[in-house]
Amino acid sequence: MNFLEERIVKDGIVKEGNVLKVDSFLNHQMDITLFNEMGAEFKKRFEGKNINKILTVEASGIGIACVVAMHFNVPVVFAKKSKSINIDGDMYIAEVESFTHKCKNQVIVSKKFLNEDDHVLIIDDFLANGCALQGLISIVNQAGATVEGIGIAIEKGFQVGGQIIRNLGYQLESLAIVDSMDATTGTINFREQ
Ligand code: 5GP
Repeated sequence: MNFLEERIVKDGIVKEGNVLKVDSFLNHQMDITLFNEMGAEFKKRFEGKNINKILTVEASGIGIACVVAMHFNVPVVFAKKSKSINIDGDMYIAEVESFTHKCKNQVIVSKKFLNEDDHVLIIDDFLANGCALQGLISIVNQAGATVEGIGIAIEKGFQVGGQIIRNLGYQLESLAIVDSMDATTGTINFREQ
């Protein structure tokens, strides 16, 4: 097991409905030393890629993205969730369905912060069905920018997102891939990588 898998086993809680709770170290209280290790690992996995910007989505991706960005020495842009319908024309917009909250959000990024010269690493905490990632990829495409890679902390390998994104040809690096988990026993099985 790698450092993140060990931490998930130690502090993660398997909930009914295929939800893994990691709020004691990843997306509510945040262990920055762990994030720093994740940043170093992403730097290694995306070695040689010409990355000048990191893109994530609020809220829980932001903390990880910021620490990862320190390793690449690049700025972070986060897509904002917005329910507003009258967004002006200076925004890229994508529709994202939330796995955890079961609702639809528009996510927006100002055109000021993403353009065709950008080489983007997308970072997020979880990959489940891939909706959040597809929204972010759409925003990069609208900008005419390039997706250099996608870094995820925890992929739930039993949901479809990973396969969809890999089939689209992106370099998707997930630090932990959960292949199965059981809410009654609390057991978590990881994919060998
Ligand atoms: P997707 O769009 O890939 O279906 O879901 C990704 C988003 O849903 C992530 O950004 C994350 O916030 C949330 N999410 C999905 N599954 C889980 C889970 O098992 N636990 C937690 N804490 N968040 C999840």
